[in-house]
Amino acid sequence: MEERTIQVDLCSTKKEKPKSDQLQFGKVFTDHMFIMDYSDPLGWHDARIVPYQPITIDPSAMIFHYGQSVFEGLKAYLSPEGEAQLFRPEKNMQRLNRSNDRLCIPPIDEEFALQAIKELVALERDWIPASEGTSLYIRPFVISTEPYIGVAPSRHYKFIIILSPVGAYYAEGINPVKIAVENHYVRTVKGGTGEAKTGGNYAASLKAQEMVANTGYAQVLWLDGVEKKYIEEVGSMNVFFKINGEVVTPALNGSILEGVTRNSVIQLLKHWNIPVAERRVSMEEIYQAGKDGLLEEAFGTGTAAVISPIGQLTWNDEHLYVNDGNTGTVAKRLYDTLTGIQYGKEKDPFGWIEQVEEVSRVK
Ligand SMILES: *Cc1c(COP(=O)(O)O)cnc(C)c1O
Repeated sequence: MEERTIQVDLCSTKKEKPKSDQLQFGKVFTDHMFIMDYSDPLGWHDARIVPYQPITIDPSAMIFHYGQSVFEGLKAYLSPEGEAQLFRPEKNMQRLNRSNDRLCIPPIDEEFALQAIKELVALERDWIPASEGTSLYIRPFVISTEPYIGVAPSRHYKFIIILSPVGAYYAEGINPVKIAVENHYVRTVKGGTGEAKTGGNYAASLKAQEMVANTGYAQVLWLDGVEKKYIEEVGSMNVFFKINGEVVTPALNGSILEGVTRNSVIQLLKHWNIPVAERRVSMEEIYQAGKDGLLEEAFGTGTAAVISPIGQLTWNDEHLYVNDGNTGTVAKRLYDTLTGIQYGKEKDPFGWIEQVEEVSRVK
């Protein structure tokens, strides 16, 4: 039986909140956090909201040695009526458990995890910034805490949720970025951990990212780890191309992370009767489409930036310019619609929005 109640220990003094026009990404955290422990054979227990604080873990805890961990990322948005709302949070909870399964971490009750998010966000509601484009970033994560340096799945874990007010991703409007196609390093490989949201994938990606950042590129375009022919993702986002009227995105293949934004973009395109296909996309095909003048748009998708247009792709020292370096009409429409729904300024035809306070009130 999963525990259903959350103990609450409130902080005695509240921190000063940053001004909403001075917010950066992920540097400031709210007054409280959620923690729940796992141990064998007790299962998940001791769910609690406590003042935000450092945690004490044994130096031999398995997380420090073999990296058994997963995380999620979603946001709480403030609607014009002042309601705190979440965007498809159940998808993040489902993915959390898919990641857990891949990393041999015991599953977490998805409804309870979502309840924990809602209770924490409701408590920290005043931390949701109100300026245009700002939000409260929600970072749930699991770490392995058993003090043991043998290689095996840990028998102790902590599930923690922290919250961080974040600024508008595009302070000067959405601008296309320069991307370098990565021919040497790979992010992951089919059969690896690419479809799990785990820290190791990010550790593996830093080297390539750092090398291109030094030469003026925003991100790398990752190719498949076997043939280095097929496109997988861009930076830590999923990627889409519009070629001759059709939108294509790499099909999920075991190494691509299934983004909630990716899924939402596909649904919106279908709703608008814009042809969209999930299939293998080779770099050669994109290059040829560019040469033939048929590459109309390219963009990344993810919770942080929502839609990030690609204005230039560099592959083997050849530069391909997409839409003359401008944001495409489909990318713009997707950005406006998704953010419109997320901030409660547009109709929500798919039932993607979940109110935070309403739901915790009926409980
Ligand atoms: C989180 C993530 C994404 C985007 O997922 P969203 O649910 O859309 O935020 C894409 N690729 C990778 C590697 C990721 O970690």
